[in-house]
Parts: sequence; structure tokens; C-alpha cells
Amino acid sequence: MKNRIKYCIANLKMNLGTQSDIMKYFSNLNNCDISTNESVGIIISPPFTTLSQSIALSEVSKAHLEIAAQNVNDHDSGAFTGEVSVEMLKDYGIGYVIVGHSERRAYFNETNDQINKKNKNLIKNNMCPIFCVGETLEQRNNALIEKTLKNQIIKGLDKLGAKEIILAYEPVWAIGTGQTATSEIITEAHQMIRNILNDIGFDGQKISILYGGSVNRNNAKELIALADVDGFLIGGASLDANHFYDIYKFIEESV
Ligand code: PEP
Repeated sequence: MKNRIKYCIANLKMNLGTQSDIMKYFSNLNNCDISTNESVGIIISPPFTTLSQSIALSEVSKAHLEIAAQNVNDHDSGAFTGEVSVEMLKDYGIGYVIVGHSERRAYFNETNDQINKKNKNLIKNNMCPIFCVGETLEQRNNALIEKTLKNQIIKGLDKLGAKEIILAYEPVWAIGTGQTATSEIITEAHQMIRNILNDIGFDGQKISILYGGSVNRNNAKELIALADVDGFLIGGASLDANHFYDIYKFIEESV
């Protein structure tokens, strides 16, 4: 297994999903002179409608950009109207998929069991899950952080054969709220996650653990300096290519 590297990942969510939006976005990224430094993985996760164009644009980009899907169905094929399978994404040339994002858990009732199937299917197809975990404010206030993370990680990674995954610690209360977790909270959670990974047979020191939750150009420098933070999964601030680039620069400077 490879040693862990740092990542700067943009989750565009249900934004920038038209052809002209995404062209502008990639053109702005190119203008930023985003580097080809391969010690930082740069991954853009656009809506499904612009995946194909994003792949084409990433191939002609000066930078080494990878493209991720924001979701995948947990079944291989069949009567699942509106859904997309791992095989379909693989055929498209997608190498990464966000799995278990708190918005999918909360708004689409995604279960740990479904998340486990998605992770397994991706790994089986040599694709890399960007596996999101994190507690709600209520769980935090009731001292249920470790229990929640354990439950999500143990169930989400159950019987996973291979181990090429990226983990993202995203406390639900910090996502899209402007309320970034403190350095202490992040350090404690990332260490907890590494210990849980070790307990279930992974090498926690070799898995990149990203932080996500209201990361922006004003807090990125301080957060990337934390020993256990291997980069960021960025929502709101990634929608502006220049802002995303500023965050990326802090990660690049830290390696
Ligand atoms: C996210 O949705 O994964 C996220 C981290 O969003 P934001 O950066 O907007 O908090």
C-alpha cells in the first residue's frame, strides 16, 4: 500500500452543472496556474451532467486533475430508475467517488449498509472511495463522537478486501455553516479515526484523512499545518476556482 499523500478535493454538489459553467470553471483553474505537483492530488467532483466534459477538460488541463463522481448506486444493475452504477462510472473513466456524504445520509436516507456495498463495489473495480464520516451536533453534545465514528467506519468498511481509500472527517455541524471545527476537535477526531482503522485491520498511518467543513482560504493554512490532516474536502469555497486554488496553494506549501 502507498504512503499517504495530501488531497485538495472540490465537491461542487448541485452547482456548476451546465456545460458553460464547467468550461468557465476549468478555464479559471487553468488561469490560476494550478500546479502539476503530484504530491498533492487535486480532484474535482462535478454534477453527473458535466462529468464527461470535466474528464475531457481535465485531460487538456496543464494541471494533474482527477475527476470524481458525487454518488453511485450500491447495486450492479437493474430496475433503479435514475441511478448510475459503478461499472458505468468506470467505463466513463472515473477513478474516484464520494461515498457516505452527510447530505446523502440525511436527505436520501443512505444507510451504512448501502455505503458498505458502494465502498466494496468501488474497491472491487479498482476505484477509490472518498468515504465521508462525521457526527451531528446532537451526537457531539451527547458525547457520542467516538461511537458514531466507530459505527460509520466499521460498518462502512466491513469486509473490504483492498485498502485504497480516502477518508474524509466531516462533522455535520461544520458543513456549509461557516462554523469550522477547531484544531483540537479535528486533531482528536483524526486520531480517533486512525485508531479505529488500526483496530479493524487497516494501517491508519497509511490512509489519507481529509478534513471537510467550512474550509476556506482564511482557515486552510492553520488547518493543513495539523499533523493528522492530509488535505481537505471543500464544498462552498470550491465553487470559485480562485478560492479553491488559494486553498490548494496552502496544501502544496505544506508538503
Ligand atoms: C462538504 O459538503 O463536503 C463540505 C465540506 O462543504 P463546505 O465546505 O461548504 O462546508
